[in-house]
Amino acid sequence: MTPLEEAFGIMGSVLRDLPSSKEELPVREAVGRVLAGDQRSCLDLPPFHKSAVDGYALMKGKAVDGYAVTGVVFAGESGAQPLLPGTAVKVMTGCVLPEGTDRVVMVEYVREEAGHIRLVKPLESGANICRQAEDVKRGDLLMREGARLRPLDVAVLLACGATRVQVKKPIRMVVLATGDEIVDDPEKIRPGKIINSNGPLLEALAREAHLEVLPGGIVPDERDRLRQVIQGALESAEMIVLSGGVSVGDKDFVPSTLKEMGLTIHFSKLAVKPGKPTLFASTPSRVAFGLPGNPVSAYLMFHLIIRHALLILEGATPRARRLFLPLENEFVRRHAERLEFVPARLTGKGALEAVPYNGSAHLCAVIPADGFFIVPLGQTRLLAGAQTEFFPVPGWSL
Ligand code: AMP
Ligand code: MG
Repeated sequence: MTPLEEAFGIMGSVLRDLPSSKEELPVREAVGRVLAGDQRSCLDLPPFHKSAVDGYALMKGKAVDGYAVTGVVFAGESGAQPLLPGTAVKVMTGCVLPEGTDRVVMVEYVREEAGHIRLVKPLESGANICRQAEDVKRGDLLMREGARLRPLDVAVLLACGATRVQVKKPIRMVVLATGDEIVDDPEKIRPGKIINSNGPLLEALAREAHLEVLPGGIVPDERDRLRQVIQGALESAEMIVLSGGVSVGDKDFVPSTLKEMGLTIHFSKLAVKPGKPTLFASTPSRVAFGLPGNPVSAYLMFHLIIRHALLILEGATPRARRLFLPLENEFVRRHAERLEFVPARLTGKGALEAVPYNGSAHLCAVIPADGFFIVPLGQTRLLAGAQTEFFPVPGWSL
């Protein structure tokens, strides 16, 4: 069995060498994509000294009894006449401040009478002014290559003057659900058959992870058919994900078939529960994952293994984030040779509580879960209150 950390190491060295390609997109269409280069600001932000409030712009100098209001500037206007001693200009939030402005007094803090204003209370120099470039200077680094663009990042890029960005091309994936017992059509259900839930699950997770999902389907447990379908998938997609058939059953043909087809198998048993029969194989330009057929295992392994692979393939930079929370109740297990992921929810008090769970076929159990807590290798007991690592699912945004 390969320990998880070792599996991550293996994936790192294999996947880093796989080719990836870029394309240019309009910024507003690039949400979810990974940057293919560093991004710098084309503009100062704010682009000019602007008013933070609706109020009156005043000059530097000792406070005087009253100020004559000489004009008004609205947001969007290009400029105003400079301030003169003893005068004020009415300004609106976001407008260009008149030259010579030292502070802006809020409308709420003045008394206005016949074109003059009086301050209700004194005001320090610099008040309510957003200085040009105080947030971002033209040329400042905004995001590094490898960042996945969230809606927030797209907004920042647009605000900073970018119109197009270089991003990595999405990875194409084919999902194949293997098993003689698997059917898509509920009409075809008879004794011994079950509905294909993994195929649609893995495809939906892949779309959520910004992969391009190509048509896959169900493959029976037949060597020749499996070989044929895998061959076709490898011709069109960079990554194939197989569910089922990876274990040690007499008809678990996935590992031997991949091997016969010339793929190198890097690991095929993980020291993780659930998810032991998880396989990773590759050619110089293609990657294949075999996930266990049991749906909770397939679900967890997508988040744990495939998302990790995607990060490396897309050159995305993961933020090193780990979360430890106290356990609501004691957790005991008999065997300790695997890292165990236990479906759990976050309580209102910020603790981790295992959800009722019968094992890796029990997909419905995961509905109320917020993720999984992790029982370390070698440990059989976690005490109530113990700080325990939590793996949120769905995970963090990058
Ligand atoms: P396997 O990994 O092929 O030994 O399958 C393990 C268990 O997962 C079996 O009970 C299968 O019936 C079930 N299983 C396999 N593939 C799927 C699938 N696509 N959807 C739902 N359950 C599956
Ligand atoms: Mg099977």
